Amino acid sequence: MQRTSFLFLCSMLAYFYLDAQIKDPKATEVWEPEPRVVTPGATTNAPPSDAIILFDGSNLDEWSNNDGDAAGWKVADGAMTVVKGTGIVKTKRNFGSVQLHIEWRTPAKVVSEGQGRGNSGVFLNGIYEVQVLDSYNNRTYSNGQAASIYKQYMPLVNACKPPGEWQTYDIIYMQPKFNKDGIKVQSGTLTVIQNGILVQNNIEIKGTTPYIGLPKNPAHEDGPLLLQDHGNPVSYRNIWVREID
Ligand code: MG
Repeated sequence: MQRTSFLFLCSMLAYFYLDAQIKDPKATEVWEPEPRVVTPGATTNAPPSDAIILFDGSNLDEWSNNDGDAAGWKVADGAMTVVKGTGIVKTKRNFGSVQLHIEWRTPAKVVSEGQGRGNSGVFLNGIYEVQVLDSYNNRTYSNGQAASIYKQYMPLVNACKPPGEWQTYDIIYMQPKFNKDGIKVQSGTLTVIQNGILVQNNIEIKGTTPYIGLPKNPAHEDGPLLLQDHGNPVSYRNIWVREID
């Protein structure tokens, strides 16, 4: 028998022996440390007590345009809306791994089709896109429809509401890790829940999400949350994050 298999057998025997010795259920209870209390919001969409509020419907103080100047999107009726040609908006703060809540709405008046209908996007770390699109009765490539990790992973299901209705994304993003030479040593991951429905289950991010070409893996640290101007008047509201240590 090889040394490694012998050691494996020994550890398995030790495991079963220890297990057989345990008669008290308390022996497997863990009491310390105790997870800290976070007060849930009144509804599932309201920010919890430790959230950083990025947009509460009143102003774009937390946001800038791509050049770092004032964001050009319109704020009205508690929402921010893409103004075609003003470009992306991004948070002034940088984030690493986060839990993100964001609500979005594609225009009630259906214009165009495929990728041209209600297109925007939520970019984690500024470079990894969770697609925003009116994918209600609007076929396009599956890895480019709403809730896809753009050009990498199609959503598990199509959880879209009709155009003109508010929809939610709850996203858990764990950023990738790079070594000192700038080589990726651990992939980032994404979990996405759309309107309360699991659509991306802890997928491994392959890299950036370009329109053309393959994912790239430039070394990076924390980055902004970025929302795409794809020329369609998509709206956002109630945006908050919780940083994950
Ligand atoms: Mg997009």
